[in-house]
Amino acid sequence: MTEQHTPGDMTQSLRTAVVLGGSHTGMLAARALTEFVDRVIVVERDALPAGAAPRKGLPQARHAHMLWSGGAQAVAELLPGITEALRGAGAHRLPVTTDMVALSARGWFRRWPESHHVILAGRDLLDATIRAQVLADQRIELVERAEALGLVGTDAAVTGVRIRTHDGAERTLEAGLVVDATGRGSGAHRWLTDLGLPAPQQREVDSGLVYASRLHLAPEAARDGFPVVNVQPDPRDGLPGRAGFLLPIEDGRWIVTLCGTRGGEPSADADDFARFAREELRHPLIGDLLDNAEPLSDVSVTRSTVNRRYFYERMPAWPENFVVLGDALAALNPVYGHGLAVAAQSALILRNMMRRQGWATPGVARGVQRAVARPVGAAWDMAIGQDVFYPGATEHGPTLRERLVAAYVGRLMHTATGNGRIARRVTDVTSLERGAEVLLAPSVLLAALAGPLKPALSGPPLTAEEMKAGGLR
Ligand SMILES: Cc1cc2nc3c(=O)[nH]c(=O)nc-3n(C[C@H](O)[C@H](O)[C@H](O)COP(=O)(O)OP(=O)(O)OC[C@H]3O[C@@H](n4cnc5c(N)ncnc54)[C@H](O)[C@@H]3O)c2cc1C
Repeated sequence: MTEQHTPGDMTQSLRTAVVLGGSHTGMLAARALTEFVDRVIVVERDALPAGAAPRKGLPQARHAHMLWSGGAQAVAELLPGITEALRGAGAHRLPVTTDMVALSARGWFRRWPESHHVILAGRDLLDATIRAQVLADQRIELVERAEALGLVGTDAAVTGVRIRTHDGAERTLEAGLVVDATGRGSGAHRWLTDLGLPAPQQREVDSGLVYASRLHLAPEAARDGFPVVNVQPDPRDGLPGRAGFLLPIEDGRWIVTLCGTRGGEPSADADDFARFAREELRHPLIGDLLDNAEPLSDVSVTRSTVNRRYFYERMPAWPENFVVLGDALAALNPVYGHGLAVAAQSALILRNMMRRQGWATPGVARGVQRAVARPVGAAWDMAIGQDVFYPGATEHGPTLRERLVAAYVGRLMHTATGNGRIARRVTDVTSLERGAEVLLAPSVLLAALAGPLKPALSGPPLTAEEMKAGGLR
């Protein structure tokens, strides 16, 4: 591919790509670019650990992370064999909705045969496994403990990036493409205005969501396999949105995350963790399961959950050779677990558009920025869909469109509790395997009108074996 897309007179800097940020998005973007350049330099502020260990620049790793099949497929397309490597390292692949015990706003979901899946692992393990495969490529060079400071170039074209290395020295890296993957704290909006471009449109929706998470050793009988357990809020009750997730991960552990919007936040108090799960959520199942699990960590709390999106694709002008991906482009409220999947799909779009249009072709960076707005927009609509209703989340409250969409989604969720076909269509969208348009097909609209075909479940659909393994009576 490189031969086909790189003109013979290309200078060395054009044959170099620089990726800012060496986390999930940065690694996948680096991988995506290897076939077009001689060298990809990844600039990362942290020192990256050799294995699955925590690090300062990834505080969210202490919280539950799931990778939906729409994202897992994109990761595997960029890194063939990664699913097997992850499973070999201890990650689980759970069939959905088969191995999900979830209380939605409209009742317990039934456990239908596999139509989709999730990959479950501690975030540090997920990153370490992907990182090891990406960095095995000799064309990728990691510059650690170095901070990106700004772009070099003009409002028409980026030609490189300024960085500060670990010894405090500043230097410029010239590049044929710069990818910003520096996450929620990205300075790209400032860097672009520094080049003379107008400020991008941005939107924030902040429900005040607080996440509290704790690692547990599962009861012995549940260590080899247990479903995901998820208790969701019901927005119709007018209370703060409180939710809980129990995810089985490597080494027989459960990572349990509890969260609450403004006025319903969980605390960092370890003694209060199981109580919150039992008494504040709409069903005590997670609290009951915690009674039989052994805490392995303190409670980690984060408030870095605001939905924030930069609409770079709408900018009247965009410089050549610059792309923004991952949380740097759109950071999502994590309850739907979409950030990793959207980033992977975006990295795949980057690779595929470069393949189609050609490396260094005028306008290709802008094309990528516009194309990634599609998966970003799909996840964004879901992330803010409920959040806009919480007090103080937006300046003016939900729009009419947002109210109509929420009413339809509520009806669909109700239908999905007792209709396997609709549950699959809904999961097509929540897994990010397909776009929301599938929910507007006439057959889906009719089914939503008819409602569930089976009666509501009266309690969590755990098997007798799972109840026993989890220590429940
Ligand atoms: C509490 C919580 C729970 C979540 N749960 C899920 C989930 O279940 N499923 C899911 O898909 N997503 C989840 N997410 C979202 C997911 O964590 C992010 O979408 C994902 O980490 C984005 O990857 P990224 O590489 O874009 O950014 P990050 O992972 O944040 O990485 C940014 C990297 O850039 C580096 N960096 C920052 N600034 C600079 C600089 N100036 N120079 C050099 N390097 C820099 C940082 O050190 C870091 O390594 C969750 C997020 C949170 C906060």
